[in-house]
Amino acid sequence: MSDCLFCKIAAKEIPAAIVLETDRALAFRDVNPQAPTHVLVIPKEHHADAAALAGADDGLADDVLKAAHAVAVQEGVAEAGYRVVFNTGPAAGQTVFHVHAHVVGGRDLGWPPG
Ligand code: 5GP
Ligand code: ZN
Repeated sequence: MSDCLFCKIAAKEIPAAIVLETDRALAFRDVNPQAPTHVLVIPKEHHADAAALAGADDGLADDVLKAAHAVAVQEGVAEAGYRVVFNTGPAAGQTVFHVHAHVVGGRDLGWPPG
């Protein structure tokens, strides 16, 4: 999608601090981090939200989840614990409508979230 911020990051038209890239997924640091580790993992292919990603075929959601886990390992937060969050829809606070998993860790994370 030509007017999608994260499609532009996936296409390297807008710079981002990329931490991991696979054939179909890209992980980059959130510009406004909420924890010492705060990385966004996206499919390079545009899907608006987690519901759309769940409907994608050929294992794309699987690739995104595996990339999220690989980021947690790479960032050194996998052992202590981390959170993978898909804000889905306006009530959940989704602001960018290209699906992204937040990988958050490096501090104690409260539950339930606010
Ligand atoms: P959402 O609220 O949709 O779940 O999360 C969107 C996230 O994207 C926010 O945490 C926000 O800080 C991040 N974000 C928005 N614009 C940019 C950008 O241009 N670059 C990067 N790296 N992150 C962004
Ligand atoms: Zn997009």
